[in-house]
Amino acid sequence: MSFDIVIIGAGPVGLCFARSLAGSGLRMALVERQPEPALAEPADDGREIAITRHSQRLMQELGLWARLHEDEIGTLRDAMVLDGDHRGRLIFSHDEAGTSQLGWLLPNHAIRRAAYAEVMELPEVERITGTRVKTLRTVGDGVEVELDTSEILHARLVVAADSRFSDTRRAMGIAADMHDFGKTMLVLRMRHGVSHGQVAWEWFGHGQTLALLPLHDPHTSSVVLTLRPQAMQALLALGDAALEADIARRFQHRLGGMQVAGPRCAYPLVGVYARRFVAERFALIGDAAVGMHPVTAHGLNFGLLGQSTLARELLEAVAAGQPISSPACLRRYERKHRLATRPLYLATQMLAGLYTDDRPPARILRKLALGAGARLKPFRKVVLAGLAAERTDTSPLFRPGHATG
Ligand SMILES: Cc1cc2nc3c(=O)[nH]c(=O)nc-3n(C[C@H](O)[C@H](O)[C@H](O)COP(=O)(O)OP(=O)(O)OC[C@H]3O[C@@H](n4cnc5c(N)ncnc54)[C@H](O)[C@@H]3O)c2cc1C
Repeated sequence: MSFDIVIIGAGPVGLCFARSLAGSGLRMALVERQPEPALAEPADDGREIAITRHSQRLMQELGLWARLHEDEIGTLRDAMVLDGDHRGRLIFSHDEAGTSQLGWLLPNHAIRRAAYAEVMELPEVERITGTRVKTLRTVGDGVEVELDTSEILHARLVVAADSRFSDTRRAMGIAADMHDFGKTMLVLRMRHGVSHGQVAWEWFGHGQTLALLPLHDPHTSSVVLTLRPQAMQALLALGDAALEADIARRFQHRLGGMQVAGPRCAYPLVGVYARRFVAERFALIGDAAVGMHPVTAHGLNFGLLGQSTLARELLEAVAAGQPISSPACLRRYERKHRLATRPLYLATQMLAGLYTDDRPPARILRKLALGAGARLKPFRKVVLAGLAAERTDTSPLFRPGHATG
């Protein structure tokens, strides 16, 4: 079982990476611990992913976009940020950004389904599913990947896209900076009486952060609520009717009556940044390299960017007759992806910290930021440029919808 590249993890990033290398002549194995049916028809995990213009174009190029159903594509026209006392209010509009919309919202499971369908059609990718990687060993001319079935795969290069809690990152001895925000984020699709008008809300304060992400149907949104784990446990224990009443109250009934329209999915908030993205014959991509806090909606956007940066480096090496695992080639990927992600990772951690904190100084800072943001033209320009960006490598996508509370 010998391959040019073994990819570990068939999440959206691992799949897109395999797809990006299609037609290159490289033989790939894609190892995923989930069984094939769970990849072909992924379960709804409640996540609605805000994607940038650059990611949308990439998804078109890779064939994923055409595989999405029309009613899976939500339009993010405008965004609104509110502080607890409602006096601070910041609106980011598509008009001001000079675009028809600020971004798109797509269900994560639909992205995964589309990516898997593309990869299934590639003869050069051998899918090894329902199996996890046990260990990795760098040997003279490659890497040996041992599966939990005791089968051994031999590769010239291993690329790990096995989540922010990556076991292979650890097995390769790569350290990572991890920050546990001590909060849990609930994502829940809900129907509501008042139309969302394609406007996303981010509402800070009063010990919680609440957000609303507009979906395709004008009366359906993704509600995103961040609380301390204990408070979240109590909320998750409620029956549907009590949960609906609780969420409508948190929104001060501005959306009318609210009904549960999807599964309740809760995620612990942990940010991760790997100290290195590459090692000998090894590279990290996706959340395994950079696991963002969702507040700025960079996670998958960065993942898509990183996989395409690495794929481009490898394609150039193939075209030049160079080995794909050459340290110079891997280091170029690492340098570019670090430059593209590091400043925003740090800014996001800071922002998430500020908005998590309900002590008076943080409240005052938030109010000042909102007030100044509403008035200052340069500030608005920067945020809007990020929202409507053609590229995600340096531009921030403000994430109305995911924040800590
Ligand atoms: C609530 C929430 C909201 C988000 N919103 C946004 C957003 O608006 N915009 C945005 O850009 N990003 C967002 N993100 C981030 C985005 O979901 C992630 O960045 C993205 O899913 C990362 O994809 P990935 O392929 O790197 O990893 P994953 O999706 O974690 O996939 C990893 C895969 O590897 C497999 N695997 C793990 N270990 C092994 C092993 N040992 N052997 C074999 N297989 C293995 C797993 O089964 C899995 O299929 C959000 C995240 C959350 C939690």
